[in-house]
Amino acid sequence: MTELAIPPSIKPPCSVGSQTALRSQNVRRVVDTLIANGASTRAEIARHTGLSAATVSNIVAVMVDRGTVSTSPTRSSGRRAVHIRLESRGAVIVGIDVGRRHARVVVASLAHQVLGERAITLPRGHRREEGIEATARLLDEILESEGIERRAVVGVGVGVPGPIDRRTGSVVDGAILPEWSGVNLVTAFEQRLGLPVFVDNDANLGALAEVTWGAHAMSQNLVFLKLGSGIGCGLVIGGEPFYGHLGIAGEIGHSPVSDLGPMCHCGNRGCLETVASTSMMLEVLGQRSTPSITTDDIIRQAVAGDVATLRVVGDAGFAAGRAVAGVVNLLNPEVVVIGGPLAELGDILLDPVRRGFERYAVPLAAETTTLAVSSLGDRAEVLGAASLAARQPSLQLA
Ligand SMILES: [Zn+2]
Repeated sequence: MTELAIPPSIKPPCSVGSQTALRSQNVRRVVDTLIANGASTRAEIARHTGLSAATVSNIVAVMVDRGTVSTSPTRSSGRRAVHIRLESRGAVIVGIDVGRRHARVVVASLAHQVLGERAITLPRGHRREEGIEATARLLDEILESEGIERRAVVGVGVGVPGPIDRRTGSVVDGAILPEWSGVNLVTAFEQRLGLPVFVDNDANLGALAEVTWGAHAMSQNLVFLKLGSGIGCGLVIGGEPFYGHLGIAGEIGHSPVSDLGPMCHCGNRGCLETVASTSMMLEVLGQRSTPSITTDDIIRQAVAGDVATLRVVGDAGFAAGRAVAGVVNLLNPEVVVIGGPLAELGDILLDPVRRGFERYAVPLAAETTTLAVSSLGDRAEVLGAASLAARQPSLQLA
């Protein structure tokens, strides 16, 4: 149907688009009530959502048809009633995390209960199509082994390590995965999966995971610093992810921490990544031991007390703490979480971060900001990707 070009001022006040939006908002309120309160009668749902009994009945009827909710008889105030409960396998969300060397997929209920999870190692320098294909296969395996129908998947969140231009859904040029630069990730994954896809970068998803699945679920303002082969920063401000103008907020890896430091691949000198990225740490440590050293070796040697490794981790932590201080002075979050593979080091990493942070943060912020390492390990990004999907207002839940 072609829409006539009517000037906005004389458009009918309630277009089809806004009715659809209103309906999905109402469906979302019903789902959120069922997540928060568990099994409820129609009257209870109406009371909690403020929706009319007729609207609730209508929404519930469609959800029963779709298998999103199930019903069972109960009694309410001595009268016969029907309990409505979310079917955990009736509507599921999917998180996908794909990086240079790994692919990980999680399937979860709308109430954020993990139903299945799988991960594999990808060959170094794999092609983009291989990465997408691997995640598609992992998803199929989980759905099959858990007995979940494909039509139950209401949304897929995808995380990649690199800034994403939110105007196009494409990975910004110069990202850590050159194969993915300029590619429209939404289209690429939707074509293969045949499901609605939403994309974000790994650091933003880490932040989202911490306020959804992690130890900081009550935080309204949180900074997630991901130290990996690249360095990114995810921000949650006022309970919502913060993206900035184009989606590249949080590119902290290229904030300068040393005026005369080494050249960075971005063309500047002394960026945080030249000191605190795992790739740079491996390069420095590889010069004195075996060049094939891995991130796991850094962790093992640091825990064993190897002096050179502790020095490199210490310098990285201090520089990261300094960069975090700048963010904290600007935003005053209650929590800063350090994620990425080195988070496993716990206090060995956190102590130098704290020293750098306390040296450069405003005293009151330094005293009152909680600094922690992520407890989600290498699952932070995939869990955040599932949360990203769950938050979308456009999900077809009924
Ligand atoms: Zn740089």
